[in-house]
Amino acid sequence: MKTIKVNVVTPDGPVYDRDVEMVSSKAQTGELGILPGHIPMVAPLEIAALRLKVEGKTEFVAVNGGFLEVRPEQVTILAQTAEKAEDIDVERALRAKERAEQRLREHKQEDLDFRRAELALKRAINRITVAQHKA
Ligand code: ATP
Repeated sequence: MKTIKVNVVTPDGPVYDRDVEMVSSKAQTGELGILPGHIPMVAPLEIAALRLKVEGKTEFVAVNGGFLEVRPEQVTILAQTAEKAEDIDVERALRAKERAEQRLREHKQEDLDFRRAELALKRAINRITVAQHKA
């Protein structure tokens, strides 16, 4: 099976580095599936799960936006934060979700705090969902 190297990098350091058979993620333009030999491209990502097919299994990483870059030998994902499923603290994400929902109730839609809370809620839900896919 052909593979391509995938690197997920954040300002805190590397999060994932492995040769995989397929990379799937959610770009701002829609679902993205990348196989070895894909043409070079750059795409902005949503707050969503990155799915990596390795040896017939799928590994999950919670990615907080950022960019995906495809080069001939490598896919790089650069994001502000990213966590592998097994590194996610679900209790913390549940607390973050509660806080965000409380803020959304307290603020008007046009507030900057409302937008911030919406993003925090998306991050928390993404982490909770990805954590359900622990290896
Ligand atoms: P919180 O309010 O719980 O800090 P947050 O969405 O504001 O959540 P971020 O600013 O996105 O957190 O992340 C700060 C750091 O904490 C990053 O290094 C991120 O990877 C890590 N992190 C955030 N939430 C979790 C979690 N539930 N489990 C593990 N690491 C987390």
